[in-house]
Amino acid sequence: LMQLSIPLNFIGFVYREIRQGLTDIEQMFDLLEVQPEVVDCPGASALVIERGAIRFDNVHFAYDSERQILKGVSFEVPAGKTVAVVGPSGAGKSTLSRLLYRFYDVQSGSITIDGQDVRNVTQKSLRAVIGMVPQDTVLFNDTIAYNIRYGRIGASEAEVEKAADIAQIGGFIRALPQGFSAMVGERGLKLSGGEKQRVAIARTILKSPPILILDEATSALDTATEQDIQAALDVVSQNRTTLVIAHRLSTVINADEIIVLRAGEIAERGTHAQLLAQNGLYASMWNRQREATQAEEHLRQVRESD
Ligand code: ADP
Ligand code: MG
Repeated sequence: LMQLSIPLNFIGFVYREIRQGLTDIEQMFDLLEVQPEVVDCPGASALVIERGAIRFDNVHFAYDSERQILKGVSFEVPAGKTVAVVGPSGAGKSTLSRLLYRFYDVQSGSITIDGQDVRNVTQKSLRAVIGMVPQDTVLFNDTIAYNIRYGRIGASEAEVEKAADIAQIGGFIRALPQGFSAMVGERGLKLSGGEKQRVAIARTILKSPPILILDEATSALDTATEQDIQAALDVVSQNRTTLVIAHRLSTVINADEIIVLRAGEIAERGTHAQLLAQNGLYASMWNRQREATQAEEHLRQVRESD
């Protein structure tokens, strides 16, 4: 038994290294020496960004043939505008962002940026213009400074610190004994979900891409942290084409359009005011969240008065 447990532990160790050490899916494929899901088409050209308008046109998609995930989704994010996607968990919201970043290809329909199909341009040029703050950020086993600078390798120390400040994480980092040189990850500092997300936001601020995808992972955060992150995200998304996947509806009130996705189809769409007036799925989600927030607030007041 002893003999068996050593190699098993070792495999577990390597697996953890792979899981914890990487943020970059391409590096992961390199490491595992497996073929990525998508490759550049022959003669792919570099994406030419004019204003950064995104268009999903009748997109169908399934991870496996058993179950259709997106069933004919069409919408646009005009250049410089913000479109929010909301809806029940499992509706296919994060899948939209994975298709835009081209981790997978659509089954039918198309996704274009400034009229260019994402399947016809090089992945490198596509990913260079998109900043993605995913639902779960995985950090490198390296310093905090390195993890932020990854957004733009040539950035100066002052630029790294400024990005951290805009992302509302600079004060937290400076208070650490080793400051920006503190190691994070497996052998270093364990950051909370919200802290990791702010590191990812700082990285995206440095990258300064024309297109932004934000997959908010805020359900586990307390209200104050949520508001800090929201303030950081508002700064980043100004004047950029932004697709935001929102879990808390309070964060989408000002979106130019809100799309309500349900079971892979657009159930409702419009501005916050229009959707409330429709009194449908969005309105019921809104009322439910408002009641939950009020209950949370009430509980906090009760606790404080004890
Ligand atoms: P949402 O972000 O709206 O909660 P997702 O887009 O992440 O939903 O997922 C939509 C559906 O696709 C879910 O039912 C999920 O279980 C499934 N799914 C997500 N990723 C994969 C995958 N890699 N392989 C197979 N099914 C997946
Ligand atoms: Mg999701």
